[in-house]
Amino acid sequence: MSFTKSIEAFEKAQQVIPGGVNSPVRAFKSVKLNPVFIERAKGAEIFDIDGNRYIDFVASWGPLIFGHAHERILAAINEAAQKGTSYGAPTQYETQMAELIVEMFPTVEKVRMVNSGTEATMSAIRLARGYTKREKIVKFIGNYHGHGDSFLIKAGSGAITLGIPDSPGVTKGNAQDTLLAEYNSLDSVQKLFDEENGQIAAVIVEPVSGNMGMVPPNPGFLEGLREICTANGALLIFDEVITGFRLAKGGAQEYYGISPDLTTLGKIIGGGLPVGAYGGKKEIMDMLAPVGPVYQAGTLSGNPLAMAAGITMLTMINETADFYSELERKAAKLEKGIRQNLEETGTPAVLNRVGSMMTLFFTEEKQVTSFDEAMTCDTGKYAEYFRLSLESGIYLAPSQFECLFVSYAHTDQDIDCIIEANKKALQNLKK
Ligand code: PMP
Repeated sequence: MSFTKSIEAFEKAQQVIPGGVNSPVRAFKSVKLNPVFIERAKGAEIFDIDGNRYIDFVASWGPLIFGHAHERILAAINEAAQKGTSYGAPTQYETQMAELIVEMFPTVEKVRMVNSGTEATMSAIRLARGYTKREKIVKFIGNYHGHGDSFLIKAGSGAITLGIPDSPGVTKGNAQDTLLAEYNSLDSVQKLFDEENGQIAAVIVEPVSGNMGMVPPNPGFLEGLREICTANGALLIFDEVITGFRLAKGGAQEYYGISPDLTTLGKIIGGGLPVGAYGGKKEIMDMLAPVGPVYQAGTLSGNPLAMAAGITMLTMINETADFYSELERKAAKLEKGIRQNLEETGTPAVLNRVGSMMTLFFTEEKQVTSFDEAMTCDTGKYAEYFRLSLESGIYLAPSQFECLFVSYAHTDQDIDCIIEANKKALQNLKK
């Protein structure tokens, strides 16, 4: 496999873009490789500019749940584009999109569209603060909610991958208003509520953590958060930027049967275009301008191209009767194959899976249920595993602390290929 053109492209990019990339994990820094530059993708396949073909298990970090460049989504974007790309005025697309989200998400009665997951979470906590008239928020160490100032404190995703969970540039004031709890530890949350005595506006959580690798909630954890928030008059915010429409039509809240007050969404609802959304109870959402005093706006929010893509994506989910059962079947098949490989090769590792999201942690621990356990991983080993997989034509996230995503576009043959590549990589890792 040759990477000559990607190496050249990366050199050029670094002259004019910090680190050569527009989002840090793309630089392949933690896996110590030159990033591959992508030329095109279709279905579950992605091709780099050197002509190498990979089966893609990143799916643009989750959103492409029907695979790349799906004909129906392309047609919808094209049709919308013919009529203009942005008006800065309301369109019926936006209402249609909102209706779909409200219908699919059990706790969302009203929803506001934004342009990214970051905007969704930033706006949701402003709203929570405005609604409760309190200032502090609780976030979990290793959870990632985008790059808003309040969240870059013990943040997951690229921030842990690059060893910079607390970013310079975030003010002390901001940091002080973000209280840190441990994922899967209700005691750590209760302790903060005991100490802060009526100052906590909201608890924001990834209901299934995807940004310290995939760590599912322990039984009772999400229920406990709901109880603590209710008992203390704080809002519970589910950040479903990854889990929304992936675990179930109604996201993790449907999957686990828990009702948050606010929900943040992103990625999948854009069908690959830049979109985010936040929604929840009418009473809270109506605090937003122009109805209420909490300000939030966006020139490109509800953009017609993104809405057309998203409406089509959600309609396709609704129309595909076996959508979630197929995702589950394929992901379960992959899990089984990897478990068998781990056993056969005697590799110490933990595989976590919920639905179509999973992470293979290279750790000697018996389980990964917490941030501390995730941090025991051998990232050097992951880097080697990543390289071996890439060379076998499997495109994985270039970091131990991310998820592998199975999409509806993956065929059984694709799953067989990754199981085979996984076995080969594990065998070579052992030496
Ligand atoms: N929340 C979660 C749970 C995420 O995983 C991400 C991004 N991976 C974000 C928020 C931020 O979304 P965006 O990158 O679209 O700003």
